Amino acid sequence: MNLVDIKHLEQVDANHIWHPYSAMHGGNPVYVVESAKGTRIKLADGRELIDGMSSWWCAMHGYNHPVLNQAVHDQLGNMSHVMFGGLTHAPAVKLIEKLVEITPEPLASVFLSDSGSVSVDVAMKMAIQYWHAKDKPSKYRFVSLRNGYHGDTFGAMSVCDPVNGMHSLFSNVLVKQFFVDSPDCKFGEPCSEPDIASLSNLLKTHQDDIAAVILEPIVQGAGGMRFYSADYLKQARLLCDLYDVLLITDEIATGFGRTGKLFACEHADISPDIMCIGKSLTGGYMTLAATLTTLDVSRTIDQGIPGVFMHGPTFMANPLACAVALASILLLEETQWLEQVRSIELILKLNLRPFESYIQVKDVRVLGAIGVIELHEPVNMKWITEQFVKSGVWVRPFGRLVYLMPPFIINEADLTALCQAVGRIVNKIPSSVL
Ligand SMILES: *Cc1c(COP(=O)(O)O)cnc(C)c1O
Repeated sequence: MNLVDIKHLEQVDANHIWHPYSAMHGGNPVYVVESAKGTRIKLADGRELIDGMSSWWCAMHGYNHPVLNQAVHDQLGNMSHVMFGGLTHAPAVKLIEKLVEITPEPLASVFLSDSGSVSVDVAMKMAIQYWHAKDKPSKYRFVSLRNGYHGDTFGAMSVCDPVNGMHSLFSNVLVKQFFVDSPDCKFGEPCSEPDIASLSNLLKTHQDDIAAVILEPIVQGAGGMRFYSADYLKQARLLCDLYDVLLITDEIATGFGRTGKLFACEHADISPDIMCIGKSLTGGYMTLAATLTTLDVSRTIDQGIPGVFMHGPTFMANPLACAVALASILLLEETQWLEQVRSIELILKLNLRPFESYIQVKDVRVLGAIGVIELHEPVNMKWITEQFVKSGVWVRPFGRLVYLMPPFIINEADLTALCQAVGRIVNKIPSSVL
């Protein structure tokens, strides 16, 4: 793209477009992307960046994949959309048949929506309608973990970490939920009585008010990139059963192999009552999410008043999105995703751990295809982004967290180069800002 065209795009963008969590005027610069293929993002000025983000957990097969392109193309020739009220179609049915097959056993009823946040709102509505139908309408509140992140709509926001989620700003409108300490027991370690006490005490005292516990299994993503004990998750499941509370697992970030299991709840060998998936569901091609639940929940909702589930997005089950999601899951099954994720895990550990000795670094942790460098101080986004782009990598930290979650198809040379670039730049953060 020529320089005049690039400048024009940048100028109109700067004048009129909001980016995620950004200021409209005078925010940090954004980079114009011309195309992306495999693990490379090509900027309009011709520079190529190795992708370390999978576009926020999504593009696990890399960009511009011939198989996924073909799936969209084929579906486009058939129909790009048709309403889902009173109609159905093969892309949705085949996708849902597949989802029911690969998710934990009791999940058999599926609601499709357009984004992760909405799938969380849908999960919360399911839980509320469930208890209403069981003649326990006082059970409408939710319990979530501190450091949790579940999305940006009002329902989802109410169960996000109250500090990170900046609840004070919206405190007049958000429903007051319950928050418990986030697990201190680390992944791979057992979880003892004090670790779970916050959750168990709360459920014991407030079970009559609580519809469900909602949590991100094993990996708390945007709220702190924390990896916690599978034992905690196991005990949380038992406590939910004991106190007659539903368990909602938000697998929007962890689903489809990222943590080294197809779904993170498999680390603990548990199944939820309601599960949310999104992000990599379509391999990063289109926006689509799903909320899955058990026959017990769906039948109970049917039997309550008003006898239907109260939600219905206009673009529900968009055929293009469903077709590419099915193709993405089939592709995942055909590839050696587990070997790929394990190999990424090894390379991340090998390359990132030495950075633990840097004065800027507080902690380095790796799980599956996720590598996290936690710093002592928040990064200067403008400075660090420029450094990354200059070094030919695309990494987007937040706060004190510099993290990598590359596409599963990344090769060893690119992944090593990515890690080394990150280490070099982190080590260059001037100690004056510490
Ligand atoms: C990203 C994310 C969401 C929100 O999904 P959107 O598609 O951005 O609305 C919810 N929960 C978790 C765990 C996520 O990572």
